Amino acid sequence: MNHIITIDGPAGSGKSTVSRMLAKRIGYSYLDTGAMYRAVALVAKRKSVDFRDGEGLGRVCRSLDLQFDREEDPPRLLLCGEDISELIRSPELDMLSSKVSAVGEVRQAMTDLQRKMAKGGRFVAEGRDMGTVVFPEANWKFYLTASIEVRAERRYKEVLARGEAAQKDVVKADLKKRDDNDRMRPLSPLRPAEDALTIDSTALTAEAVVEVILNYLKT
Ligand code: C5P
Repeated sequence: MNHIITIDGPAGSGKSTVSRMLAKRIGYSYLDTGAMYRAVALVAKRKSVDFRDGEGLGRVCRSLDLQFDREEDPPRLLLCGEDISELIRSPELDMLSSKVSAVGEVRQAMTDLQRKMAKGGRFVAEGRDMGTVVFPEANWKFYLTASIEVRAERRYKEVLARGEAAQKDVVKADLKKRDDNDRMRPLSPLRPAEDALTIDSTALTAEAVVEVILNYLKT
């Protein structure tokens, strides 16, 4: 018996909101692994390391001092003590994180770090390969989907809520491109684990998805 719940799925499927709400309801911690890939992309950008440079990215990962401050709600991501929670949400880092996450050195380092962070704890782990690669032994696995229209609409509203300008069709095209990258890459591609329950959230609120999950956990 372990205490890991995995939630995977494409961008905008509601994973983050659902994972955070679920973790709170059941007293688990929330592990946002997408934020970790975004942090790698941010450091690579700052150090001018090319996203195709495996060795350089390996060095970036080895020097990474990354911590979640779980005293805050939602948890903040600290890079050497610097709060990068907002910085990593830019459209540029959306795309760059998808690119660096296809590199073997990066995936290996992040997989090791994610397992280390979750060791011995109770976690809702959210990402693209939580159920398939990082925590294949998890007792409960979920895969969230939603139509591209609904996912793009959610992401568009998130961007506006941050006070940034955005065009709906650009947000949709970027989302689709990132999903295609994540699905087509040879290493840890985005896909449901064989033993995952798939939930289509197109017509469901985040609260309703959490209820579906809670009911499933009781079975
Ligand atoms: O979930 P989020 O949109 O923040 O993730 C950013 C990017 O990080 C994704 O597009 C994906 O390429 C990568 N990622 C990944 N594996 C994970 C989590 C995120 O490859 N477990």
